Amino acid sequence: MVLAVCKFCGQTIAEEYETQEQAIEEGTMACSCAQARAYQQLKERAEVAKVELRDMLLKDDEIHNVKAVDQAVFDFLINAVDLIAEDKIYKITIGLSSGGTVDIKAGAGGKISLKRSVALTNKREV
Ligand SMILES: [Zn+2]
Repeated sequence: MVLAVCKFCGQTIAEEYETQEQAIEEGTMACSCAQARAYQQLKERAEVAKVELRDMLLKDDEIHNVKAVDQAVFDFLINAVDLIAEDKIYKITIGLSSGGTVDIKAGAGGKISLKRSVALTNKREV
């Protein structure tokens, strides 16, 4: 068992976890130092972004005739949201084989922006 510890200031809290990784994560999430608070805010924003991403990608959009993406694609992008929240990458763009792209990027003020683009062409010749 490992005692929970903040990864920024090193403060410990009286909780024990199975793994070092869990102990650091939980310790940081419970700490109130400025860096830990900023980290907690980013993590919360990432959770909100995941809910939005699920809504955007895993539902068929019948109005625009855009199908939901494969679950594996969604899972892949969920990891990208975490990497953006942890400031390891600042943007990712993927091209879907079914058509269109998905962009996720870090915006101003720590915001996370999500965009799905599908080219719509409706041409008629009479
Ligand atoms: Zn701390």
